[in-house]
Amino acid sequence: MTSGDAPTAVIVGSGLAGLTCALELAGAGWRTIVVTAGRAGRDGATHRVHALTPWILLTAPWVKGDSPQRLLADLEMRGDGMRRPGLAEAFVENARDAARELIELLDLAPVAKEPVTLPGDELPRGMRCLPRNRHLLLAPLLRRCAALEVEVRERTLLSGLCLDGERVAGVTLCPRGGGAPQRLLADAVVLACGGSGAVFPVTTAPRWCRGSGLAAAAWAGALLHHPGLTQALPVTATPPLYFPTSAALVAGRVRVAGDLLPAGRDLEATTLAVARAQRAGAGAFLEVEETRPELWAMRRLLGSSPSLATGGRVALTVAQHHGIGGVAIDAWGRTSVAGLYACGEAAGGVQGRRRTMGTGLLEAAIFARRAARAATGDRRRLRARACELRESSAPSPLEPERLERRLDELLGPLVVERPPAAAAAAVRELEAWPVHDRAARESDEKAVLAAIRRQAALLILRGSAAPEVG
Ligand SMILES: Cc1cc2nc3c(=O)[nH]c(=O)nc-3n(C[C@H](O)[C@H](O)[C@H](O)COP(=O)(O)OP(=O)(O)OC[C@H]3O[C@@H](n4cnc5c(N)ncnc54)[C@H](O)[C@@H]3O)c2cc1C
Repeated sequence: MTSGDAPTAVIVGSGLAGLTCALELAGAGWRTIVVTAGRAGRDGATHRVHALTPWILLTAPWVKGDSPQRLLADLEMRGDGMRRPGLAEAFVENARDAARELIELLDLAPVAKEPVTLPGDELPRGMRCLPRNRHLLLAPLLRRCAALEVEVRERTLLSGLCLDGERVAGVTLCPRGGGAPQRLLADAVVLACGGSGAVFPVTTAPRWCRGSGLAAAAWAGALLHHPGLTQALPVTATPPLYFPTSAALVAGRVRVAGDLLPAGRDLEATTLAVARAQRAGAGAFLEVEETRPELWAMRRLLGSSPSLATGGRVALTVAQHHGIGGVAIDAWGRTSVAGLYACGEAAGGVQGRRRTMGTGLLEAAIFARRAARAATGDRRRLRARACELRESSAPSPLEPERLERRLDELLGPLVVERPPAAAAAAVRELEAWPVHDRAARESDEKAVLAAIRRQAALLILRGSAAPEVG
């Protein structure tokens, strides 16, 4: 129950990051409003985790001999200098406790007693779990949020930010399916709006996860962390784009353009080979051998969906999976602009060039909680709100449906590799796309969605584009 003068937080997104942050803020006495594009708890990547993979993976230093320092050393090595200082440190210190809490909070049951060693790791760190009763993954969190009177606005899109001088002071919203645009003032706005997978036409992420965090940071003038840093993965070519596990893709027999990929390759090499084969118009297949334990999960899937495999082989494609870059945050989820916070996949900087699998949920849980605590601490230092607020949003494109189709065409070949000339050509075309001379029409759902995707695509591609010549 909040008191009349309780501070207000608007949290964008109802995945694990959004709901965790909401719980923490509501528990601290904030009036907490969660705005979400679809149905709460069902419209983010979090909801897809055990729908498109055989299990939920939680990577932490579980076993004797492992430690936060050893995990940090691995993240550093994979990060290749592209991490933000302090973030991975906060992650490794909290990973094991956060994983235990998550298992309890979401009522997960480990698939096996011991963690497995993931490809590329020397120590067993991957705890595989499933919801104990095959329940909706976020159902327990939704119940807790309801008990704390968190207000949830479903089918509502973030369409812009309200700025008070340099500070973020609220959001503008577009109710889907019509209805007047809304403005909500807030003491803290938290971007928990997931990654940028759906900027690309083939993705494991839901369509709402189209880089709203990147776009919103741009509206506020907040710093970004390597927005072009993304992770793609080989998945089954037949929807729903099932991820056959890293183990199957690395150790299983993958045939690309007729040739078997060499043993000892890593997931990145497999992804690249599948992407190049696809661009050359050749096929890529995972061959399902009876004897290989790493394919057991795949075989279980084939049993339930025989149309995936023909003649013992499963056609593969590449899908955009995870935004590694994102809104730049400090170790407490603060962006570079006062009043604006980011956590979960919307934020970037915990990992660098190469991402460690099984860390997305823990990042969401750890940094959502830290962002809530930072907002509570910062609130004491906030000055009174000015009278004049201005709104900032993405330019509203003409012909949003045609723009969506064109984005599919432009970004389809750039899922994995982004040759500078192709990226530059796409940037030029997207920059030149005609827009209304007024701000995004907040009452038009299609225009808001296309505007966000165009802006996020530009932010992702600009880093890869060749410098303009002449
Ligand atoms: C198939 C798959 C398997 C995975 N497996 C694992 C795993 O085993 N272990 C692991 O740790 N991680 C895994 N991940 C990664 C992990 O799921 C994500 O990193 C994590 O769930 C991100 O949580 P989030 O709350 O930040 O974002 P999400 O869960 O994606 O939530 C984003 C929310 O923002 C909303 N939103 C977006 N834009 C707007 C807007 N403009 N207006 C209003 N709402 C908006 C969405 O509707 C959604 O509610 C997997 C991901 C996928 C897709």
